[in-house]
Amino acid sequence: MPSPRDDCLFCSIAREGAYVNKTKGFVAIHDINPKAKVHVLVIPERHVDTFREVGEFSAKETKRMLEFVAETAREVGLNDYRVLVNVGRSAGQTIYHLHWHLLGGDASGEDIPAGVATAEAEL
Ligand code: AMP
Ligand code: ZN
Repeated sequence: MPSPRDDCLFCSIAREGAYVNKTKGFVAIHDINPKAKVHVLVIPERHVDTFREVGEFSAKETKRMLEFVAETAREVGLNDYRVLVNVGRSAGQTIYHLHWHLLGGDASGEDIPAGVATAEAEL
């Protein structure tokens, strides 16, 4: 496992956050500025800047990461939800440590604002 980056917020949170869910190598936390009734972030302990570098995870880690996203949704009571990764500045990425947004709990998925869910309009 590569060393955590001292200057990375999500490296710090992955080490010592208040978790919604945790498994080996991955944590889930509540988003500090929720864009849906339930807005959870799944964060790998391994630092990669963006989803572009997802190939740095082994096949086994990648499978576990995706399973953990689904398992976390179940844990927080979501059956219907959106899974989203912003990749790069113009797509809305503000924190350069890979993370998966889990958004749900609203009556309609259409309530999720454009800034988080549909940044493709600006691409
Ligand atoms: P993104 O814009 O895709 O990079 O997502 C970053 C997300 O991290 C945003 O939804 C922020 O609200 C959230 N965020 C920023 N700082 C924190 C924090 N300290 N704890 C939890 N969520 C945070
Ligand atoms: Zn990091």
